[in-house]
Amino acid sequence: MNSLHLKSFTRCKRKAWLDFKGKKSFEVWSPHKAIDKINQFKIFSEFCNGEIYTGLKACENGYQGVIGLKIKGNLFQNINAEIRPQLLVKTKGKSKWGQYKYLPAVYKLGHKTTKEHLFDLAFCSMLLESFQESKIENGLVISTFDKKVKVEEIYLNKKLRKKVLNVLLNLDECLKGSIPEITQDRKKCTICSWQKFCDKEAKENGYLTDIDGIGSKTASLLKAKGIINTQILASYKEKQLREKLSKFKDLKYEKASIFVKQAKAYISGEPYFISNKTNDLLEKTCSGFYIFDIESNPDEKHDFLYGFLKVNNLSIKKEDLIYEPILNLKNNKGESYRQIIEILFSNKEWPVLHYGETEKISIINIAKNLNFSDQEIDSLASRFIDLHTLIRKSWILPLKNYGLKTVSHWLGFEWVQKNVSGSKALYWWIQYQITENEIFLKKIIQYNKDDCLATLKIAEYLIKDQLKKN
Ligand code: SF4
Repeated sequence: MNSLHLKSFTRCKRKAWLDFKGKKSFEVWSPHKAIDKINQFKIFSEFCNGEIYTGLKACENGYQGVIGLKIKGNLFQNINAEIRPQLLVKTKGKSKWGQYKYLPAVYKLGHKTTKEHLFDLAFCSMLLESFQESKIENGLVISTFDKKVKVEEIYLNKKLRKKVLNVLLNLDECLKGSIPEITQDRKKCTICSWQKFCDKEAKENGYLTDIDGIGSKTASLLKAKGIINTQILASYKEKQLREKLSKFKDLKYEKASIFVKQAKAYISGEPYFISNKTNDLLEKTCSGFYIFDIESNPDEKHDFLYGFLKVNNLSIKKEDLIYEPILNLKNNKGESYRQIIEILFSNKEWPVLHYGETEKISIINIAKNLNFSDQEIDSLASRFIDLHTLIRKSWILPLKNYGLKTVSHWLGFEWVQKNVSGSKALYWWIQYQITENEIFLKKIIQYNKDDCLATLKIAEYLIKDQLKKN
């Protein structure tokens, strides 16, 4: 077992097992991991003033920062272990290399220091102590805040070390055993490289957490009532389920009928129409509309691409639609803001269709930044129509979630580039910033254009549905 397994184990037991024993061909490359690695290196390098080197030689030479080291050792009860410290930082002391020693450091994304960071530091210190022949009292958690490097010192006390030893024992047991169950908290799966593999099994076994709106807590309450899988849930009469759940005074259980419909749709593959009361899309879009989609780096609060698709009417061929990408490479706003406003006001009456709330929020912020009056901001904001909200209010779809990719893919839309996602676009953006190779910008623009076309596909679905009903 190694420190990567420990990290996975803290998140999901099954992930640790799969990382250790799973068939690598079922694992999908994760842009999150790659982005994490790039950010990690950037911050570590800044923290060590660029004096960062790889391997054992770097320790012997006493460099400030050392990465890429693997240290094997024996933990206890003959358990072989290996640590892969993210970073070793030189500090005062005495070790087998001379008048200095090293401390382990980990990278943290976001504000919260979690047990994942603490366990990693404690585990690394255990094997590093005997390796460098010097005691370690502290570890470091390194992150950035407001573009500045932030360092938190962690005291690696006895209690923490004991706790980690226990976790390592459990990890060892887990890796020796058979594959653990899929995690209850399926939110964790969204950035996991084993997601496809686990999703398949979850669907085959009728996992309740496959149903939109059912999280781990609701799933265990349903199970306690004998509703152990999606098939049983789908077989319930809505009233019957409501009665069964009525003693839970949680508002959620008013959603019983939605859960049953969602389960039925999921199993049958057929969508279920709820209401077109909110859907006046046909009327609003008949004289033309924009589709709008943004690509951004949330950690840096930087929207680097604003994409507009101009749709005069739905009968135009897709190839003839005008797509306008507005790049904001340096986040200096002025020029890109001017272009955005110019587009939006060249067809003042046109609604702006988007998927999710980000786009509208971003435009309101731009308008505020440009000192628009409250009235002007309200009138601009009123042109925005969120298709994500609209489709959820109008339809129950036979899907696990209502994300843009899932819904448009179900409607038959295909992205030109395979296996793409928002995080892959972010990965390309980071690659572009490092290399300035235009090929990455081209990939991002193609991706954003496809996102716009995917949104259009959903708009067509909602509009056509209204046409049928009129
Ligand atoms: S996809 Fe989910 S259940 Fe499967 S290994 Fe990853 S986190 Fe665990």
